[in-house]
Amino acid sequence: MSCIESILTEARDLSRDDLILLVNKLMESFSHETATSSPKKMTAPRLDCPNCHSNAHVVRNGHKHGKQAYICRQCGKSFVTTSNTLLSGSHFGTKI
Ligand SMILES: [Zn+2]
Repeated sequence: MSCIESILTEARDLSRDDLILLVNKLMESFSHETATSSPKKMTAPRLDCPNCHSNAHVVRNGHKHGKQAYICRQCGKSFVTTSNTLLSGSHFGTKI
């Protein structure tokens, strides 16, 4: 019997609350593992559009002032990674 099968057999006896807890714990360890084990595989971070706060339609749009620029296809606004932050318009960038 594989680990998964034995876990599933055990899980049948769990209460609903325990099952939810188990799933949450599994998700937690899974997301922790993927976040730490393969940093090189990370693609561009999912950005929220500072204008409409959608992140489903934000795509890269070249560079502006040496920074990665993005455009939101939802509302058509373009922005750089420091848009709407304290560093917006700053010449210092994020590496101070
Ligand atoms: Zn937008």
